Amino acid sequence: MAQLKMATIASAIGIILSTSGALAQDAHDEMFAKMPPVAAGPAIDREKGYVVEELGRGLYHLNDGVYQMMFVTTGGGVIVVDAPPNTGKNILAAISSVTNEPITHVIYSHSHKDHIGAAALFPDDAVIIAHEDTAAHLAGKNDPDRPVPNKTFTDGMTLEVGCQKLQLDYHGVNHAPGNLYIYAPEQKVLMLVDIVFPGWTPFPDLALAESVDGFLEAHNLILGYDFEHFIGGHLNRGGTRQDVETQQAYFADMVQAAGKANGTMDFNAA
Ligand SMILES: [Zn+2]
Repeated sequence: MAQLKMATIASAIGIILSTSGALAQDAHDEMFAKMPPVAAGPAIDREKGYVVEELGRGLYHLNDGVYQMMFVTTGGGVIVVDAPPNTGKNILAAISSVTNEPITHVIYSHSHKDHIGAAALFPDDAVIIAHEDTAAHLAGKNDPDRPVPNKTFTDGMTLEVGCQKLQLDYHGVNHAPGNLYIYAPEQKVLMLVDIVFPGWTPFPDLALAESVDGFLEAHNLILGYDFEHFIGGHLNRGGTRQDVETQQAYFADMVQAAGKANGTMDFNAA
């Protein structure tokens, strides 16, 4: 029943098309089911194109309705996590709307361009931190939009800047190699990108995962953290433990149904 509590990707596509003005409202209403309330997020200022929410002392969730990232003010410079090109220069506008501190540290959640491809906007002297597998991948890409990290690690590291602390953990391949669990213990915020989609159906991302087992196991690993706010990197709202449990139940249903089908289907006949 978990799936009944989540909006469909078709709705998401409908929203994206309609916000871009490519589809008239009437046609949209005919083609797509109404978005269930559970998928609704904070209102995005249409003029600005983004919304910033403070989730805890100095920790901000930046969301443009399709992509999400976070940044932390430390008193000694801003730590930015990710740089989606979809948000682009609005990243800088959002940060300067809450602080005058310069950006001193950048963390890449993983190597994919749709989440970090605006990183060239940040100062050249910023420390760029990522898992060693992410750095190795980017070194091979030679992409000016994704500067190669200059600080890497294998299993985990704690980043302390000014008055803030972030724990960066690597638990193996899931959606992609090098995909990090980024945890703020004081604010009880956990960010992990492209795994959990609070309020939305996650099915296509299971199929895209570089490790399906790792993707499914990530739900258990997430729930092992003491967090209240979850940032998943996509769509229009952050999540809670309940959202992670709902998605976990959705996949448990799917694995069970697939196992049953595998056991009863006559493959020769098919
Ligand atoms: Zn990705």
